[in-house]
Amino acid sequence: MKHTCYCVTEHSAPLQRMENETPEPKGAEVLIKMTAAGVCHSDIHIWEGVYDLGSGNKMTLKDRGITLPLTMGHEIAGTVVKAGPDANVKPGTSVVVYPWLGCGECPTCKRGDENLCTVKTRSMGVFMAGGYAEYVLVPHARYCIDLGSLDPASSAPLACSGITTYSALKKFGAKIAEEPVVIIGAGGLGHMALTVLKAMGGKGGIVVDIDAAKRKAALEAGALSVIDGSAPDAAKQIIDATGGGALCVLDLVGGGNTIGLGVAGLKKGGDIVVVGLYGGEIKLPTVYFPLRGMGVRGSYVGTLPELKELVALAQKGALKPIKVTRRNLSEASDAVYDLKAGKVVGRVVLVP
Ligand SMILES: [Zn+2]
Ligand SMILES: [Zn+2]
Repeated sequence: MKHTCYCVTEHSAPLQRMENETPEPKGAEVLIKMTAAGVCHSDIHIWEGVYDLGSGNKMTLKDRGITLPLTMGHEIAGTVVKAGPDANVKPGTSVVVYPWLGCGECPTCKRGDENLCTVKTRSMGVFMAGGYAEYVLVPHARYCIDLGSLDPASSAPLACSGITTYSALKKFGAKIAEEPVVIIGAGGLGHMALTVLKAMGGKGGIVVDIDAAKRKAALEAGALSVIDGSAPDAAKQIIDATGGGALCVLDLVGGGNTIGLGVAGLKKGGDIVVVGLYGGEIKLPTVYFPLRGMGVRGSYVGTLPELKELVALAQKGALKPIKVTRRNLSEASDAVYDLKAGKVVGRVVLVP
C-alpha cells in the first residue's frame, strides 16, 4: 500500500507530493493515520536547511545529519491503525506523538531527556519521516500519548509549541507565580506561552513584538499588556510595565537584539530563557552575571513526561485549546511559504 506525503526534496523549494510505501509496524512500532499535523516555525529552518550563528556563520542542517527527501511535520496527531506485536496500544486510539527522539539508551535518554540525546537524534519530521503525510510510523508505542476526547487539531501543537513553552516556563520555577513573564515574540509560540502560563498558575504575560497586528492578537489572547520591541525605549517600557524590571524573560525569537533587550529589561535575580532560533550573537559585560545575579539559559523542546503532563492539563480543562487554522494536507507547501512570509497569525494545522 502506498500513501501520499509532502516532502522537502530541495532546500527552499516547493514541497513535492510523493507516494511512499506505507510501512508495516514491527516490534513496538505503531502505524497511525494522520489526523492533524502542525506547521511549525522551525519547519522553516529545516526547509531552508540553515541556522544563522551570527557574524556570517551558518550551521547547515546537513551538518546535523538531515537527508533529503524529508517529510517534515513534528506536531503529529493521529489514529492508531496498526500496532506491532510488542506495541501496547489499541487500534482506534486517538494519540499525539512525542517526536523528539534520541537513541533511547544513553545516560541522557535514560534520565528522561531524550530531546537532548548526545548519541543519536532521531526527531520525527526532522531526521525521520513526520506528519505531512497520510500515514506516519511511530518507532515505539511509548511515544503515542492517548488524547481521549481532545481535538486532534488543537492538540497536535502540544508536541512542539506546547512542550517547548511548558518546559521553558518550568525553568523559571516558582517565579512565574510571583511576577508576570515578559514574552518576546507573539507568533504561534507566544500564544501558546500565554495559554500554558495560565494553565501553570502563572501571574500572566507581558508580550513584546515588533508587529502591531501580532501585538493586538496577543492582547486578545490574554496578554496583560504589549510592548513594541522596535521602539527606541522598549527596554524602559519593559521596566515600567513590570514595575522595576522583569524577573522572567522568555525569548521566543532568540535574536541577538531580542536577548539584548531582555538583558536591558531584566531586574536583579532575573532569568532569561532562550527558545527561539532566529539566530545571531550577543555581546554582554560578563560582570552582569554575578553583579545582577542574572541567568541566561536555553531550552530545547521538552521531554516525554512533560508532554504527558501537558496532555493531562488539557484533559483536566486547565489548558484552553489554542485557536488553529485548518488547511488540507495538499496545501502543505503553501502553508510553509505563508509562514515564511509572516502571513500567519496563530497556528496552521494540516488535516487530511
Ligand atoms: Zn516545532
Ligand atoms: Zn540517547
